[in-house]
Amino acid sequence: MKSAYDRRIARARELAAQFPQSSNVLDFYQRIALLQKFVFEGLAARADTDVRAVLRHLPALTDLIKTHGPARLAEYAGADLGSRIVAFWDSGAKTAGNKSDIESGIESEPLFFARALLQPYAEWLVTRGSPPQQTQESACPFCGGRPVAGVLRGEGDGAKRSLICSLCATEWQYRRIVCPNCGERNKDQLPVYIAAEIDYVRVEACDVCKTYIKSVDLTRNGHAIPAVDELATVALNIWADEHGYVKLETNLLGM
Ligand SMILES: [Zn+2]
Ligand SMILES: [Zn+2]
Repeated sequence: MKSAYDRRIARARELAAQFPQSSNVLDFYQRIALLQKFVFEGLAARADTDVRAVLRHLPALTDLIKTHGPARLAEYAGADLGSRIVAFWDSGAKTAGNKSDIESGIESEPLFFARALLQPYAEWLVTRGSPPQQTQESACPFCGGRPVAGVLRGEGDGAKRSLICSLCATEWQYRRIVCPNCGERNKDQLPVYIAAEIDYVRVEACDVCKTYIKSVDLTRNGHAIPAVDELATVALNIWADEHGYVKLETNLLGM
């Protein structure tokens, strides 16, 4: 059976052909996802739950960045990176609700390294226990992370929305007409933008707090893998940015 990482890599390859302007982003993502697959499989094979186990993959990640990554990341690879990654996990991910403070306080370079290695670790922890699916909160019910994207799935005549955690990939149901950042419920303040060329990914914005999240509508495109399609649709981030909206949470590649 294909793992979640295999499916993400295959989807990134497909999307690189469809969105040539995102092909560099998607090629880089495929390399990171392959490394994440090895991290996940290594943890699972040894049933290792110590976060420090991910640090054995830091040299491989650093090499990958030096060869294929952007210069600002290659230059970053500092000596204290390992301890920063562990500290990021210890201080943030175990305390639900505090995550956003931690993430907004960390620069984008160490955050990239932390996510690259901690995402497979957090996903491995999720497979060991069943995360709660019902919550009214906009923070992940498993690790407290903020949502990186939304997903719409068909239900009756409409569609229900879930949010996907930026760290552990847990999905939880969340009301459709509520801003996940400030809780606004007035739909006149919650505009939805859809570009004709990418009609299955919506920019769900909030005019009260000026944030947005992209939701992938699986009723329009059943082949989409939300976390990967979110990465591929950079054009929508640029559009939202130009219209004064800030993304609720950046993705693995800091976009
Ligand atoms: Zn999570
Ligand atoms: Zn809002």
